[in-house]
Amino acid sequence: MDEYSLFTIALGLKKPWKVADVKFSKDEGRLDLKIDFQKGAAFPCPSCEEGRCPIHDTRERAWRHLNFFQYETYLHARVPRVRCGRCGIRQVEVPWARSGSGFTLLFELLVLQLCREMSVAGVGALVGEHTNRIWRILEHYVERARRRIDLSSFHILGIDEFSVRKGHEYMTSFSDIDASRVVFTGESRRKEVIEEFSDDMKERGYDLRDIDLICCDMWDPYLNGIEKHIPGASVVFDRFHIMKQMNKAIEKVRWAEQKENKDLKKTRFIWLKNPKNLTEKQSEQLTELKKLDLKTARAYQIKLALSRFWEIREPNEAEHYLTKWFFWATHSRLDPVIEVARGIKRYWQGVLNYTLSRITNGVVEGLNSKIKTAMKRAYGFKHTQYLRTIVYLVVDKLCFD
Ligand SMILES: [Zn+2]
Repeated sequence: MDEYSLFTIALGLKKPWKVADVKFSKDEGRLDLKIDFQKGAAFPCPSCEEGRCPIHDTRERAWRHLNFFQYETYLHARVPRVRCGRCGIRQVEVPWARSGSGFTLLFELLVLQLCREMSVAGVGALVGEHTNRIWRILEHYVERARRRIDLSSFHILGIDEFSVRKGHEYMTSFSDIDASRVVFTGESRRKEVIEEFSDDMKERGYDLRDIDLICCDMWDPYLNGIEKHIPGASVVFDRFHIMKQMNKAIEKVRWAEQKENKDLKKTRFIWLKNPKNLTEKQSEQLTELKKLDLKTARAYQIKLALSRFWEIREPNEAEHYLTKWFFWATHSRLDPVIEVARGIKRYWQGVLNYTLSRITNGVVEGLNSKIKTAMKRAYGFKHTQYLRTIVYLVVDKLCFD
């Protein structure tokens, strides 16, 4: 035991490393620990199995460590380069930091934990480091953790857009619906994002033929990309997205009709809500409105009929029902409704595929709302790579061991 043994133990250093000197500067508010190796030490080669290589030379390095109370703490050491009989001159790895980083592992771990809870700018200010350095730490660990994710049970893919900023800038999330995790985020909602996704997955050793089902919106750029890069999967259109379009159609019909019929004013929610969720007063109002010969009421009936389609579980029956519904909807003389029906006709098989698969993008919508929260942590940083890193960090359940 020497006077610095306690520091050696506190840092968890093992032979041949030990704390050799401690400098404490109250005025500068910092603590500097000099680490050194014992005389005559030999080190393992970082590239091969060779356990004891002689030292060739050393280089002075410094790392930021966890603060000691309010004092910024730095480790200093001369890092040896060894001469390996097989590999030549190699720099050894120090146990307290990864190579190339100016921070110790514990400091980086602290940064990762903080960034899960607060904004990157906030973390930078808190620890007194430039945010670029914080981003570099995040990117390193996030990428490493993503490479380690086990994708062997990933078979159902959910694709959905999310808006990045107010205006019309979108990105696309790709999720493993069963595992409820975002596996990739693409930089736009153009068809190229499917290729970006495909490249990333291949790099991670995943075979895209393992995807059986894809749930997404009726959005041609996605569909074109899917056809090209994931042709073996069946596409299922998200029923909630289709119902949302139907609701928009009702709203358009009502909007036009209320100009002549004042009874329709302030009835928007009555037509959009699920009948089960109406208050007693709203139900009565709906019954009264239905007695009038309203276009809005007709559109509403067509919507209710479409919502019954999702309950059918037998494929032939489902197709028969949807065919009848399509006929009714296209003969309704309500343009917005006809438009929705034609959309369904265009994407017929993907709509019918719901009957057997029963999958929706409910999970994905949940993940996308987490993405929105996550993006606040990247507030002030415009680069999409930053947004992706923060999404993976906060939403992707990554584990950093
Ligand atoms: Zn070697």
